[in-house]
Amino acid sequence: MSYLMSNYAPLEVTFTKGEGCYLTDTKGDKYLDALSGVGVVGLGHCHPAITKAIQSQAGELLHTSNWYRIEHQETLAKKLCQLANMDNVFFGNSGAEANEAAIKIARLHGRSRNIDNPIILTANQSFHGRTMATLSATGNAKVQSGFAPLVSEFIHVDFNDIEAITTHTNNADVVAVMLEPIQGESGVIIPADDYLNQVQKICQANNWLLILDEVQTGIGRTGAWFAHEYNNITPDVLTLAKGLGNGVPIGACLAKGKAASLFTPGTHGSTFGGNPLVCKTALSVLEVIEKDQILDNVTELGEYLISGFKAKLSSSSKVVEIRAKGLMIAIELNSDCASLLTKALDKKLLLNITGQSIRLLPPLIITKTEADIIINTVCELIEDL
Ligand code: PLP
Repeated sequence: MSYLMSNYAPLEVTFTKGEGCYLTDTKGDKYLDALSGVGVVGLGHCHPAITKAIQSQAGELLHTSNWYRIEHQETLAKKLCQLANMDNVFFGNSGAEANEAAIKIARLHGRSRNIDNPIILTANQSFHGRTMATLSATGNAKVQSGFAPLVSEFIHVDFNDIEAITTHTNNADVVAVMLEPIQGESGVIIPADDYLNQVQKICQANNWLLILDEVQTGIGRTGAWFAHEYNNITPDVLTLAKGLGNGVPIGACLAKGKAASLFTPGTHGSTFGGNPLVCKTALSVLEVIEKDQILDNVTELGEYLISGFKAKLSSSSKVVEIRAKGLMIAIELNSDCASLLTKALDKKLLLNITGQSIRLLPPLIITKTEADIIINTVCELIEDL
């Protein structure tokens, strides 16, 4: 009998050691991690610089609470704001918490406009987290099932459909649009190149906030620091988590302009959020990404993987579509492929299956050697399906 709640269904493998792109299990078998702990360990497992930062900070100071100023938090906030062209930051411990903060900012924006029942538009097939507000924002009935009454009010619109958003411009209660620039959990769904630009125009014309959830797409995953850079826009609110801590729990909600002045003392908080340990770790993550030119690697290896997959799979009748931006990759098949999860594990490769798609989020530091293993193993799995 397990003493753990049954909300997860873990595979029958336990890892005890990680190094770079590889994990080692209790039997000593080595696995190539093409999922990075679901887009978290971008710099690979136990990156020496990150380990050193954690060790040295652990020997200095772990936690003081936000009732006192925290030097590393202030430095990290400045660095993130400079990178993202934002004004200020709230730190929590996860993506869901970052999005909770964003939702609360949207509500305050509504209050400032004397709107009593503020509505946020979010997308069908989106994923924003598992807390009550973020699962209500999430456009997936499975995630919401059993948890009604949901937090009101979110209106779900089709992703990549501008009409679906303009339909709501005559609804005076709408205060914000919240979107992932690329939908991750639903299988790397990439909208039209100018979708976010058009959404921003509508937001600006209607005094709505544009909230971008870059929990998965941010911190280099797509080859830019943030996916919205491809659109040359700056959102009003930007949420980050996953890759920011390389495995240490951290979430960040960044705000700009009017959205940056809505939280006042007492309106929001988190005991652990932004403590010295996580902030020092995140600072070293950003430093390594810059120093080692990781973004260039993401672009180069992303292209390498895609051309490798295309070369081998373009004539496969089993493949519907290959979708990718940087190292965020999905291969959609024409049939159920859930069985590939354990088959990949048998071949010592970690990946994810979402719907009928194989999803890959390899570490941002992968080399062509690992990329070749990923290409060959995934193609074999598809062939044998
Ligand atoms: N938002 C997006 C886009 C995500 O992909 C996720 C997690 O997969 C979340 C939010 C939730 O993040 P967390 O699990 O850290 O709460």
